[in-house]
Amino acid sequence: MILKGDQSTVRSINRALVLNLLRQHGALGRNELAELTRLSSAAVTGVVAELIEQGLVLEARSGPPRGGRPPVLLELAYDAWHAVGVKVMEEALEIVLTNLRTDVLARRHVALGSTEPEALLEQVIAQVQTLLEASGCSSERLVGLGVGMAGVIDPAEGTCVYSPFLHWQQVPVRRLLEERLEKPVHVDNDVNALAAAEMLFGQGKGARNFAVATVGRGIGAGLVIGGEIYRGADGGAGELGHTVSEAGGRPCECGKRGCLEAYAAEPALLEQAKERFPEFRRRRRFQIAELLEAAEGGHEGIRALLAEAGERLGVALANLVNLFNPEMIVIAGEGVRLGGSFLEPMEEALRRNAFNGLAQRLQVHIRPWGDDIWARGAAGLTIQREVFARPRV
Ligand SMILES: [Zn+2]
Repeated sequence: MILKGDQSTVRSINRALVLNLLRQHGALGRNELAELTRLSSAAVTGVVAELIEQGLVLEARSGPPRGGRPPVLLELAYDAWHAVGVKVMEEALEIVLTNLRTDVLARRHVALGSTEPEALLEQVIAQVQTLLEASGCSSERLVGLGVGMAGVIDPAEGTCVYSPFLHWQQVPVRRLLEERLEKPVHVDNDVNALAAAEMLFGQGKGARNFAVATVGRGIGAGLVIGGEIYRGADGGAGELGHTVSEAGGRPCECGKRGCLEAYAAEPALLEQAKERFPEFRRRRRFQIAELLEAAEGGHEGIRALLAEAGERLGVALANLVNLFNPEMIVIAGEGVRLGGSFLEPMEEALRRNAFNGLAQRLQVHIRPWGDDIWARGAAGLTIQREVFARPRV
């Protein structure tokens, strides 16, 4: 071993190694773990004993015999521990309680009382406690709380540097929540939290280089490069929605002009539909479902609008492919509901505009929309940090 850590560092690296192998392969015997980790049998036995004692690993069924006695298989105790994920939105909180595989056990969706930081975080704490009580889950078995929110987040400090929707600047979210909850809290940009969850148990399991692009209220990207989330110098990497789609074009919420979001995010789609077609102009509570209904009902103008937006997203993704050469792109978020009239032109433009060869092996996965996908991502973030992350040396 080249690492010169103290024994506890070496031990925690070995621990993470064993946990991640069990996550990727499912059940394994001690011999297989020794082969895969290249650790001695004695070292594997030691690490496994510790993980069983902590209740993270179970001795399950027996495997196929390899001569002699059938080996005992080990697996992760997914249901023995829980995590809570919170997605903070402009007008509501989505909160889920999950097991270690991010399967949702209980959820709550509540309207925000206030967007003032202390009041909002107080509401988060009250909702987490209600969720735990209602589901009869002991807080001793809670690995932690994950919070995902739009904007620029410093995940090391757990600070919201800038939130465009809530108008927050430099809010110490983690510190304020940890003081009250007495459990580890992890805060990250919502798209990065989703990418962390994809990396653990989603399409990204086993992939080293991929992107998660989210469409809906906003447009963003989580970039996984070499098995790690890439954040850039200020934690702001992946602002796909504010890459320029048309220089000097439509005004964007961020203050600039011509951003992709000003054409292809949901508010921009509604706005453009109103501008182009008088029949939508007078509707007061005009929503994306009505746009979809019009497209499905054969409204050619709305179909063309969705196709143009899809194409703009596809071009932006082709640029992303040309810069980062990912093996896969996962498309997620509420915008996936827009369906084929948006997604087909998107994929077509992506493949047409990517540099020769880079899009041939590229896989594009559409993650079906579920209301709790963002909050599950936030739970996945805390599970990744508390259970599966390798210690930094
Ligand atoms: Zn913008």
